[in-house]
Amino acid sequence: MLDINILSLIYLIASVTFIVGLKMLSHPASARKGNLVAAFGMGLAIVGTIFLYRDDEGNKLHNYAWIFGGLLVGGIIGTLSAKKIKMTAMPEMVSLFNGMGGACAALISMIEFQHFANHNYVEATIAQSYEAGAVVEEAVLSRGVPIETLLTIFAGLVIGTVSFAGSMIAWGKLNGKIKDFSFKGQHIVNLLLLTLTLALSAYLIVVVATAVDRPDPESDVQIVKELGSTPLLLFYATFGLALVYGIFFVMPIGGADMPVVISLLNSFTGVAAACGGFLYNNNVMLTGGILVGAAGTLLTILMCKAMNRSLKNVLIGSFGGGAKPGGGGSNKDQGTYKEVTLSDAAVLMSYANKVMIVPGYGLAVAQAQHACHELEKLLESKGVTVKYAIHPVAGRMPGHMNVLLAEADVSYDKLEEMEQANEEFPTTDVVLILGANDVVNPAAKTDPSSPIYGMPILDVELAKNVIVNKRSMKPGYAGIENDLFFQPKTSMLFGDAKKVLQDLIGEIKNL
Ligand code: NDP
Repeated sequence: MLDINILSLIYLIASVTFIVGLKMLSHPASARKGNLVAAFGMGLAIVGTIFLYRDDEGNKLHNYAWIFGGLLVGGIIGTLSAKKIKMTAMPEMVSLFNGMGGACAALISMIEFQHFANHNYVEATIAQSYEAGAVVEEAVLSRGVPIETLLTIFAGLVIGTVSFAGSMIAWGKLNGKIKDFSFKGQHIVNLLLLTLTLALSAYLIVVVATAVDRPDPESDVQIVKELGSTPLLLFYATFGLALVYGIFFVMPIGGADMPVVISLLNSFTGVAAACGGFLYNNNVMLTGGILVGAAGTLLTILMCKAMNRSLKNVLIGSFGGGAKPGGGGSNKDQGTYKEVTLSDAAVLMSYANKVMIVPGYGLAVAQAQHACHELEKLLESKGVTVKYAIHPVAGRMPGHMNVLLAEADVSYDKLEEMEQANEEFPTTDVVLILGANDVVNPAAKTDPSSPIYGMPILDVELAKNVIVNKRSMKPGYAGIENDLFFQPKTSMLFGDAKKVLQDLIGEIKNL
């Protein structure tokens, strides 16, 4: 009894750490600590459950070797992959981990359904072996599976499986191993698959719930006998359908929409984990799942807003689907662009009043954040005001640029969000774009035929001068041309961002 109370207290503490951790994640300065706080709470909840949990009959957990074996193997794999992963590959990692969460939720549902199914058959046989009377009736009544338990099992199975399959496809797409794939009428096929999955779930819930809920023992035994292994087979068919739906759901979603999908799948995993919490009456699992589900949903909404698109449009619009994520589009004739030399760029920036730096995915690829911070300090020592303009979807995951710059100790006050930055561009002398492309593409405002039309962008062309650093004239993630590069105010400074920044620092020092 005392143990159970201590466990409840541990769950409460863990739940509080999740909430505090989440709050701390909302600011780059406290994000790292927030992560540790929540991880500590999770560790506490896991250890508490392993040692203090008792079931209704007062039994402890057993299988310690399996539990600790699993913790050890998972812990080693997680630590090694987190240490090895490059900043640019972080979204893939998020997707992979999210998929594992979905798979866990689906596995819980599988085990619990099997558990109930086996229980029913065993009891049905016992009931049949008695002639009639009180013993039979008692045995039959003890077999009831509440309908809400079945609902939770199926919700966990379907949502967890879709999240697992979808996340695996997203992972493959982000690391380039899986290509976008769609066919005519795919949305209808997807809708059919989803309807079939839900219909089968509903049928099974009704069949199993009524089969075990009849007052008449004879007919109950009969029904369970007639059903035989059918419910179990149909259960696995539901799993199979949800798996195929998850794959088909993410396959056609292209290019720049992947972060939204990953965030949506993340919220699915949260909901599926919360189902596990309901099933086991485990408060900390419930709180954790709800927090992940809610945070994922809010992030999805915010990202849709940042791209000015509805979720429906993201899911069935195939934005960027025709384009080649990661570059490779064709160069249509848009006139000529001009280049700037390193020394001219150094002079322009050194004698400016205000310089705004626009970081993008290329900055992360080049790992140029430290050089960038050095340039900022150098310019500030010459009396230049330097700020960073951060687009909400710059890079390859939400908050990518904030994390990258925080890693290089760039002060958080220097980071301006899109709206703020757009107000500052008209009074900016030089905008230095470092490996950003789509997030500064004016086609989002001017070309209704562009796939990024409607996405709010950084209005860099309002500044007096724009210097663009990238390695070539290749397009960005959405695979589309950028008119900005051909505008009279713009000059190109070609080369790897880190190398260019180091050379620029050298030039400014020599002035
Ligand atoms: P983009 O992908 O549009 O452009 C990046 C540019 O960086 C490329 O044009 C590339 O040009 C250049 N580049 C690559 N490597 C280097 C290097 N070593 N040095 C210098 N430049 C380099 O990036 P943005 O940040 O502008 O836009 C992000 C895009 O990604 C948006 O379309 C967004 O929707 C999408 N996205 C965002 C996610 C998020 O959550 N933030 C997640 C997934 C996608 P070149 O090859 O010529 O060097």
